[in-house]
Amino acid sequence: MPEFFRSRAGRQCLSIMALGAALWISATLLDVDSWLVSFMSRFENYGADKFVLALGIAGAMSFIYSVLRIADLRKEMLLRDAAQARADWTATHDHLTKLPNRYAFERKILPKPADKGGNIPEEAKSNVTIFSVDLDGFKKVNDLVGHKGGDVLLVEVAKRICALGNADCVYRFGGDEFIIIALGMTAAREEWFAKVLIQAVTRPILIDGFAVEVGASVGYDRWSEGAEPLEDAAHRADLAMYEAKSRGPNHQLIFEPSMQDKVTERASLETKLRGAIQNKAIKTYYQPLIDLRSGRLCGFEALARWTDEDGMNIPPPVFIGIAEETGMITELFENLLTQACSDALAWPDDVRLSFNVSPVQMEDKLLPSRIFKVLAASRLPARRLEVEITENALVQDPAIAAHILDELHKAGVQIALDDFGTGYSSLAQLARYRFDKIKIDKSFIATCREDEKQEKIVRAMLALGRSLNIKTTAEGVEEHAQLAYLLQLGCDIGQGYLFGKAMPAAEAGIFVESQNTSLASIA
Ligand code: C2E
Ligand code: CA
Ligand code: CA
Repeated sequence: MPEFFRSRAGRQCLSIMALGAALWISATLLDVDSWLVSFMSRFENYGADKFVLALGIAGAMSFIYSVLRIADLRKEMLLRDAAQARADWTATHDHLTKLPNRYAFERKILPKPADKGGNIPEEAKSNVTIFSVDLDGFKKVNDLVGHKGGDVLLVEVAKRICALGNADCVYRFGGDEFIIIALGMTAAREEWFAKVLIQAVTRPILIDGFAVEVGASVGYDRWSEGAEPLEDAAHRADLAMYEAKSRGPNHQLIFEPSMQDKVTERASLETKLRGAIQNKAIKTYYQPLIDLRSGRLCGFEALARWTDEDGMNIPPPVFIGIAEETGMITELFENLLTQACSDALAWPDDVRLSFNVSPVQMEDKLLPSRIFKVLAASRLPARRLEVEITENALVQDPAIAAHILDELHKAGVQIALDDFGTGYSSLAQLARYRFDKIKIDKSFIATCREDEKQEKIVRAMLALGRSLNIKTTAEGVEEHAQLAYLLQLGCDIGQGYLFGKAMPAAEAGIFVESQNTSLASIA
């Protein structure tokens, strides 16, 4: 009620009531009643009594009206307050999990130490630790049980985190990222809690009859209250989480300054990469692919090489990874493919160009047309191009991947399944798509002669290729003994340092010239 009287409408009502009260008091003080009696008896003949009666009724009605109006206005105020509270809640909460969101975090809606019932040791009372949690493999869950299933999982994860006694405040920062504020933790307790968080999140969740599991990466750091904004501590917790994620699923790490250095370094590398792509400073090198039965060169795999301005060789997985994350991969791909197609024109007609397509590109519907454009411009026949894709590239968006492979196949481009055996659902992928080649990952070739289990896997992969009528390439052949062994098992193509490392276009030309004599001697 006092709230109401502070509002504009409330103040108006108060004024009316005050006016009424003032009239009444002045009437009493000035003896208005006796004056009225004499006035009415004097003017009885003119019906003044009726006039005064009418005035009285009007006054009473005004009073009733004011009371009703006050009630109405109060109701309106309550409705408005409720709507405001709802709007506030919507702005500061996530609808799915009902947890507070990033905006609430920025507005520092924090728990008070007193809420913890005074169980905190005195020295730890001002400790505020921020934990950043990001799910690992959440996208796969969406693929498996759909987006509704993914929502169910997020709600369950939120419940599990909230149920942990030490999670004083839990926020969903969007997607599969959660921030937790915990108060009064010692260093040992923080580490323990990070592990507990992972355990809680990674327990299987039953969705539509599937027992679904996700991983979790956790990073954390203390907030120096008073010395920095809360967001700074959350940023450090995020950096620690990213570092934990880079070590594989279900890791937890406390922030260290070197993590910030890594991010700064990465940002500078990203700038350099942008320049290198624009200046076409990244070159394609070519590694020979050898037909093991004939010993003849049957192709070259194009491998990107980047030596920066300081003469440093940046490894392809590093700069390809950055190009993928920053959306520069398409431009880089088009540059390199253009270079490679023009180099391949100088090779014999039966020597194919193998070109790597990154998983991110397999989500780009326009990929076939981009490839056809480069082929047309360079006049390299489509049948001389082979694209290498990894199994992981097929799981991001299987429908688009199928469309891309179909278009490429129709045009006569060959498809090779790269790094076979290292991704997921290999056999399922083989059955679903048409591949012309499978490339057995070098990790199997390196150990197959010493490790019986690896040997059995290599044998099985080669047998699988034969039964499906798909050619097999062994990657990473480094020793003569490996070559002899692969020949004996019936592998079709070999690639590795034994035959040659990736070399610049000019050297590849010389390799083509000399291959007849030199390869006959290797075999
Ligand atoms: P990948 O497609 O599996 O390429 C083969 C990698 O194995 C190359 O590493 C090659 O140098 C290396 N290699 C070849 N023979 C041997 C051997 O006998 N022993 C050993 N230990 N290694 C051998 P590289 O060039 O560092 O490339 C690494 C990965 O980077 C490639 O793996 C590929 O996934 C990616 N990559 C390279 N160039 C490109 C590119 O132009 N586009 C895309 N999307 N990815 C590329
Ligand atoms: Ca490859
Ligand atoms: Ca490979």
